Amino acid sequence: MNKYVEVVTSLPIDRTFQYKITGRESYAPEIGKRVFIPFNFRKRVGYIVKFEDDPAVENPKDLIDVIDESPIFTGDMLELARWMKDRYFCSWGEALEAMIPGALKRGKVSMTQRVDDEKYDIASSEPHKPNKEQQQVLNEINACIKNGTHKVFLLHGITGSGKTEIYLQAMENVLRMGKSGVILVPEISLTPQTVERFVSRFGDKVAIFHSKMLQSARFAEWKRIKDGNAGIVVGPRSAVFSPFQDPGIFIVDEEHEPSYKQEDTPRYHAREIAIKRARMAGVPVILGTATPALESYHKAVNGEYRLVELTGRIKEKELPRVKVVDMRMDFDTRVGKTVISPVMAEALRNDIKKKQQALIFLNRRGFSTFVNCGKCGNVLKCEKCDSPLVFHKEKKEMICHYCNRRIPPPKICPFCEEDYLMYKGTGTQKVESELHLILPEARIERMDSDTMSKRGAHAKVLKRFKDHEIDIIVGTQMIAKGLDFPKVTQVGVISADANLNLPDFRSSERTFNLITQVAGRAGRGDLGGEVIVQTFTPEHYAIGFAAKHDYHGFYTKEIVTRRELGFPPFVNLVKITLRSRKEENVAKSAEALAERLGKKMPGVDIIGPAPSPMAKLRGYYRWNVLIKTKDIDKLVKELRGALSGFRKGHGVFMAVDVDPMSM
Ligand code: ADP
Ligand code: ZN
Repeated sequence: MNKYVEVVTSLPIDRTFQYKITGRESYAPEIGKRVFIPFNFRKRVGYIVKFEDDPAVENPKDLIDVIDESPIFTGDMLELARWMKDRYFCSWGEALEAMIPGALKRGKVSMTQRVDDEKYDIASSEPHKPNKEQQQVLNEINACIKNGTHKVFLLHGITGSGKTEIYLQAMENVLRMGKSGVILVPEISLTPQTVERFVSRFGDKVAIFHSKMLQSARFAEWKRIKDGNAGIVVGPRSAVFSPFQDPGIFIVDEEHEPSYKQEDTPRYHAREIAIKRARMAGVPVILGTATPALESYHKAVNGEYRLVELTGRIKEKELPRVKVVDMRMDFDTRVGKTVISPVMAEALRNDIKKKQQALIFLNRRGFSTFVNCGKCGNVLKCEKCDSPLVFHKEKKEMICHYCNRRIPPPKICPFCEEDYLMYKGTGTQKVESELHLILPEARIERMDSDTMSKRGAHAKVLKRFKDHEIDIIVGTQMIAKGLDFPKVTQVGVISADANLNLPDFRSSERTFNLITQVAGRAGRGDLGGEVIVQTFTPEHYAIGFAAKHDYHGFYTKEIVTRRELGFPPFVNLVKITLRSRKEENVAKSAEALAERLGKKMPGVDIIGPAPSPMAKLRGYYRWNVLIKTKDIDKLVKELRGALSGFRKGHGVFMAVDVDPMSM
């Protein structure tokens, strides 16, 4: 008989705690079950990870109770969480809690509770007969599924090349073997068509997760998977932790998307978790995309991943022509209106005349993206964040897009008290209002997080667009993905260089991806399509290659830059961010940290300390120490040693981000 259990909790403490089994628990203690434990005079939820025969301390406390009749974590998931704790600098319990719905974390719901299934009302559909290229890819994937071989496939193909059909048929095969699979998508509400295709093919065998889901529904879906009643999961990054009995495949659609990276503890990347889980289970992974992450393509070129490419669009549709408009040249000819070039205006006018549709893309919401004073030059910034306040015309407010702080627009400059405030920079609201002036006859809707905050709003606008009750949608990245409307023949990018000036080594890659993705929304039907890209830097290669739909060209150029500057994929980065409400504390602490790391890890490439590009956020001053390494496994171990015992200083918080997606 075991006498003691080792328990982990969601506290950020990297150790287990021992409790005594009393024999009076509601259920037998087992590894992977939740328990209630006394902790600092409070009752907390914990997770059993181990049994012990001997006490580790004198008189360990008694367990309060065992919550679960059967374990909620399998041995594999406990193992995965343990790997995550080491890799991502979190505690074992924090990693475990990332894997389960919120309701379970609070120790509330019981696993025996009955839950109602959600029903989807979507007509069923049949598989297409794969074309030759698809068949070849499927043969390879199916062989892995059948033989239980782990392999990572990088499926590279432009939108419309038939990737999703491959996912569907591979998944069908997995189901036939009595196994389960997950397909990760960046954000469900942005890719409704992918979800629909899975539901239409597999009906109620599909479990769906999305970010706006109620807790109860989330738990219901989780339980359906756990009980083996849903063999297919479609969802965003956290769906990678789906509690399958027998996983058969992991699919990551749009694998390059930054949203797969969790930006708070545990700072995991869902693509890496998918690969890790697939390796543990001996099953294949498909990473699908039109614009592979540089890291992924590099691995594929080096043979670590299997590169499979689809070379054309299924329906032989040509890719849309892309016209680059040099806004510097255009500057003089823009009459009064400053946002939309005459070329774009003319194209839209023709489009509407022909009863076709258009999408206009700009990744900044609001009306004026900054306000400055013509006299003293100061920009109005958020008091708590080092970020310009954005003017929202409809609400007549200045809003901070980082902390959502709002103030009424000042009448005079708060710095010099003169009446010279100028509203500058372009957001989606300004584009929308200019479009109304240029095309009074057009029916225009705006799609950004300001207009789409209500549940279902997104689907409603898309339905009206599909029914052609709307001619033009102006939107942020919400319209960049997944939309497939045959009457969309014009796509406009208002400002292609918006990302290029960010202090981030991925800014070219992001720009290339975004233009490619947005361009992919045009010419999906028989009417053809055209894309107009407005830019102040038309000579930039990211824009040039995107205009030519040339991923290989872009990769070849970008990879040279990365090698020269020593950035991923040639090194791994670890970003350590310190923050504090007191600027001098954080600066001092960051300097002490960098010095300590330099001493404890001689030869390691340390950059900084320096104020983070977002030097102040929500009232906290932030400094970064960046580490570059060619051996991430070794570095992570050394770093743990070097960090332990580091005294951060009063009121200073530290976050370690392995393979950060933002600087
Ligand atoms: P992607 O995921 O690369 O954008 P899809 O799989 O969505 O491409 O395919 C594009 C379109 O072609 C979809 O409408 C899909 O139903 C259709 N399609 C895919 N494969 C075939 C096929 N083998 N035969 C006929 N139509 C196909
Ligand atoms: Zn703010």
